[in-house]
Amino acid sequence: MVHAASEDEPTPFVRDVLMPGGPGHVPRIAPAACRFRLRIAASSVHRWGVFAAEDIPARRRVIEYTGQRIGLREAWRRRLRPQLYLFRCSARRLIDGGIGGSGAEFINHGCTPNLVARFDHRRVFLSSLRAIAAGEELLLDYQVRGDIEPIPCACGAPACRGYLNAPG
Ligand SMILES: [Zn+2]
Repeated sequence: MVHAASEDEPTPFVRDVLMPGGPGHVPRIAPAACRFRLRIAASSVHRWGVFAAEDIPARRRVIEYTGQRIGLREAWRRRLRPQLYLFRCSARRLIDGGIGGSGAEFINHGCTPNLVARFDHRRVFLSSLRAIAAGEELLLDYQVRGDIEPIPCACGAPACRGYLNAPG
């Protein structure tokens, strides 16, 4: 029997289709998207993290956040995935780093980040807020917005606000 799911009804098979690599997939950095040498390693914050493999000066583009460009409705469908790599560019547009991601999608949230997202036309670059020493984990303040349950933070910073969600 063919079941035509309505547009708004998430379908369970989405999870399989959209999990690139599957279990055991080792995340990777795309060198072409980076201005500095970076590496992916296990993180004390969450699963994998991205680390500087060389010193990075302040206010420099470090890596481009790439991926599939999608709208809100598609993002809503993909929320079933066990790991989400969505970067919100505007009220209606997102980049899904789970597909065609540069590796920037593995950068963890930190309440005291060392990176900030800068937009250049439709592209997103993560730039250093301060000098970052080789070996430091790269962190971005996700500032999760919208009608989303509070997501607890484990960044461990003294100024940790406890949640990934934007304050106020
Ligand atoms: Zn935190």
